[in-house]
Amino acid sequence: MRKIKLYDTYEGKVREFTPLVEGEVSIYYCGPTVYNYVHVGNLRPVLVFDLLNRVLRECGYKVHMISNYTDIDDKIIKKALEENKTEKEISEFYTKAYEDVLSGLNIIPLEYHPKVSDYIPQIVDFISTILDKGHAYKTPSGDVNFSTEDDENYGSLSKVDLSKLRTGYRIETKDDKKSPLDFALWKLTDDKGIKFDTKLGLGRPGWHTECVVMINSYFKKPLIDIHGGGFDLKFPHHENEMAQSWAYSGTNLANYWMHVGFLNMNGDKMSKSLGNVVLANDALNKFGGNVLRQFFLTTYYRSPINYTDEAMQTASEEVDKYQRLLTKFEAKAFLEDFKYEGTIDSDSYNQFLDYLADDLNVANAITVLSTVIKKANNALRNPRTSKEELSIIYLTLRKMLEVLGFNFEKFKGNDELKKIYSSYLDAKSNKDFALSDELRKVLMEKGVL
Ligand SMILES: [Zn+2]
Repeated sequence: MRKIKLYDTYEGKVREFTPLVEGEVSIYYCGPTVYNYVHVGNLRPVLVFDLLNRVLRECGYKVHMISNYTDIDDKIIKKALEENKTEKEISEFYTKAYEDVLSGLNIIPLEYHPKVSDYIPQIVDFISTILDKGHAYKTPSGDVNFSTEDDENYGSLSKVDLSKLRTGYRIETKDDKKSPLDFALWKLTDDKGIKFDTKLGLGRPGWHTECVVMINSYFKKPLIDIHGGGFDLKFPHHENEMAQSWAYSGTNLANYWMHVGFLNMNGDKMSKSLGNVVLANDALNKFGGNVLRQFFLTTYYRSPINYTDEAMQTASEEVDKYQRLLTKFEAKAFLEDFKYEGTIDSDSYNQFLDYLADDLNVANAITVLSTVIKKANNALRNPRTSKEELSIIYLTLRKMLEVLGFNFEKFKGNDELKKIYSSYLDAKSNKDFALSDELRKVLMEKGVL
């Protein structure tokens, strides 16, 4: 099998990927809290993990990739109260909106999207076990908090300076944490929001617990291959997930932790308070899925990326270039009545895939793609290029663009176009230059020549 390398946040370096089960990969990445429309920054992890999914499949792995929907959360409750709806109505509405965005981006459907509300009994059992093992405690008010103080691994994922955090932490007067970094596993409540009557009391689970429980429940094991999410989730969310996994089963939860860089907006952080938030569905309507994909994938996934009009313009031009080239190839086959079939240029393709397998190095993979594009243009221009040669180039190009996840329109010909084309060829062989020029213009406008 092809060698795959991934940057692992826990080890702090690029490591060769070795799966837990030969030929299979289990992956979980943290999904959205479904209380509003996602913004373009939220699309970056989605696209990066979609690319990883495609690359792993191309390398021959059976991929089990899941991502959650947080459908129990204070923000959802607040919205439900404001709009006089149930939490379920709110979360289902925004889940649907999110799924429309995923399909607009041509994301390979994931194996499963667990929802927190379906895992309450498992969450309660999980918390009870951690309590029994002495890694959590009940506060005087009855909440269950995780105890970070006696966890010697705490901080090992995010590498944050714990002593700084502990001393710099403002302890609220009502806070009954034993240590400032302790976090809630179960919160008692009698507010108007959704709550669950369990042996831990009437309340709701804390956010950090759901992912661990859903990973353990779905994969039926305490350790998976890859856990991912945005950089902003490293601390405290992922650190807390890992801490619970250590407390519960003595594992790291995942063998590889992958984190995706931030998106900036004209150099600033995209945030509601700065008023520079671009919603994903607006961007999708404006540019289309291919352009957003091109924009996000051409920057290394751990580096920050800057969303500007200029960058979107460049991405849009690149995507147009791909589409025009594919159209020309497809139109040629249609007008000359042949099909592209047979092999691909495996040397170029292997090099392309090797780059992607090297911690998703899209920039290098695209240099290989560019070479194929150059060849493609030359081949189309040269009337002596054989159909076999055209076929190899076209199929290689299509395959590469598919692995990157683009979804290009297929050329649809019609009889009228065929007629114009044959008149054009006739005019040319009859040396009727005025007519052949005129027809060539028509065909060029249709993107065929
Ligand atoms: Zn999570």
